[in-house]
Parts: sequence; C-alpha cells; structure tokens
Amino acid sequence: MSRVNTVLGSIPAEELGIVAVHEHIGYGMPGSELDTRWWKTPEQRYAETVPKLRKFHEYGGGTFVDVTGICNGRDIDYYKSLSAKTGVHIVACTGFVGGDTALPFFARASVDYLTEHFVHEITAGIGDTGSRAGVIKVGVSRGGRMTELDKRIYRAAARAALRTGVPILTHLAIDAENAIAIFHEENLPLDRVLFGHADDGVNAEKTRDTWIAEQGGRVGFDTFGYETELEDPPFWARPRKERLDHFLRFIDGHLDKALASADANCSPLGWPGVKGHTVNYLFEDLIPDLRAAGVDEATITTLFVDNPAAFLTIQA
Ligand SMILES: [Zn+2]
Repeated sequence: MSRVNTVLGSIPAEELGIVAVHEHIGYGMPGSELDTRWWKTPEQRYAETVPKLRKFHEYGGGTFVDVTGICNGRDIDYYKSLSAKTGVHIVACTGFVGGDTALPFFARASVDYLTEHFVHEITAGIGDTGSRAGVIKVGVSRGGRMTELDKRIYRAAARAALRTGVPILTHLAIDAENAIAIFHEENLPLDRVLFGHADDGVNAEKTRDTWIAEQGGRVGFDTFGYETELEDPPFWARPRKERLDHFLRFIDGHLDKALASADANCSPLGWPGVKGHTVNYLFEDLIPDLRAAGVDEATITTLFVDNPAAFLTIQA
C-alpha cells in the first residue's frame, strides 16, 4: 500500500491532493531563537500562519511539505495543531538544510550516528510528538561546493532513505556531480531525490537541471514567487517571466521529473521574511500563468498531484 508520513499519521498517497512540495511554516537560522527581539507570541504565530493555510485549503491545496531542517525552527507539535485546525496535511522532515545549518552537536556526528538519527525520526518518530518524518532534507552549504560535512549528511540521508523508503529533498542543486556520486555509491535510485532550487536567481545558471533529469533525478522549481518585481526582493529573486520560461522549457521534455513550489514562510523566525510572498502564489499566480502559457489541466495535475505523490510515497 502506498503511504506518506504526515504529522498526524500516515495517509494513502492518493489523499495528498495538490502538494506544495517545498515550503516552510517558519524558517530561521540556527540561534535566531536566542535573539529575544524576534520572539513572537503563540497568538502572533497562529495569526500569521492559519489564514495562509486556510486559504491554501480553500484553493484546493491538500498537502504542505515543511522542509525546515532540524536546527531551523522545526516545531512538530505546532504543525500538528495547524494541520488539525486547517485540514491541510503537513509533512515534516528530518535532516538539515545544509551542513552550515547543523549545530555543532550534529556537525561533529559520524555518518552512522546521523543515519540512525534520521531513521529514528522516520520510523519511531520525532521526539515525543508521535509524528514520523516524511522526507529527508539535505543541502549544499553556502559557497557553491559541497563541504565535507554536507557530504556526510548526504551519505547518511541516502542510507536512511534506503532503509526507510522515505525520499530526499535537497536545498540547492548545484555541485550535483558530487551529490549524485554519493547516491550512486550508496545504490540509491535517483528518482528518490528531488534536487531543489533549480530555478532561483543566484543558482539557476549554475544548475545542470536537464542533466540531473537525464541521470534520473527529480528537479524542483521551488522558489516561484521570489521575483525581482516584488517591492523588496531578496537576493535570490529572479524576473518572473525568466523563471516561468525556464520552467516551461524544462517541462517540455522532462515533465515526469518536474516539481514546483514557492519556498515561502508562513511566519518567519529571526528575520522579517519576504513581504507579499506566500505558498498561495501557486494558486494565485503560477497555475494561472501556466494556463495562460497553454499548459493543459492534465499537465498541471501531473506537476502538483501525481509527481509529488510518486516522490513522497514510502518505498516498501
Ligand atoms: Zn526552503
């Protein structure tokens, strides 16, 4: 039976519906929780987050995949209450956004230790929450090349993915040759890996998206909405049309490998976030843009329902 781990339990993959595959309830850099100037009351956090998730649900959104790594403000009990309040399935991750966001306790850990930790969070659960992780997050540290620690985390993730059947999602798809070499050494099929952020304004030029797809990897165009047209665009922003055209070129030939998301923060931690950008960009802008470009409904279903379900389904 094909199933997916959500924070409220495992569900049949057919029940995921429309999936936002790379999102954040709230993302902050490790340590930002110690800066008291950024503290928010529970009421503030709910007030910022619940309306966005309710709207996502009203638009027809089924599942929100939170890929906030272990040291970046991941808060499973909070996600459980949000899911129960809004009816949106939330998938939580184990793993790290990158080696450079792993705190020293984890940064010093061996591949074996990290593997056991990921496996525990996927099979036994995350702490005492009773929730099992549904995806493993890994990533490339700032600097453009995988560090020794990044590689250790990728190897541990590959081993945990093989043991549990849960897939891997990456922050950045640059330096993919090194990532793919590790996955090959560990005998992990590349369709269990979603190489993310292929479309962002800083890395798109350096990302070999079609090459990754030809190797069998899945490719995430998952920073939709971070546009230079925004009032105060972040450094990874990109002109709206340029990103859309890039995506249209990619799905013309690699549709089965393509996934899309907005990488938005419902309630950012330790930073103000990017004004005017939410997960609902998918419904308010991206899907209308795809329709206007002549993309048919079957293709939209492939992108937002079938491809994420195939990716997230636990391999027995
Ligand atoms: Zn992200």
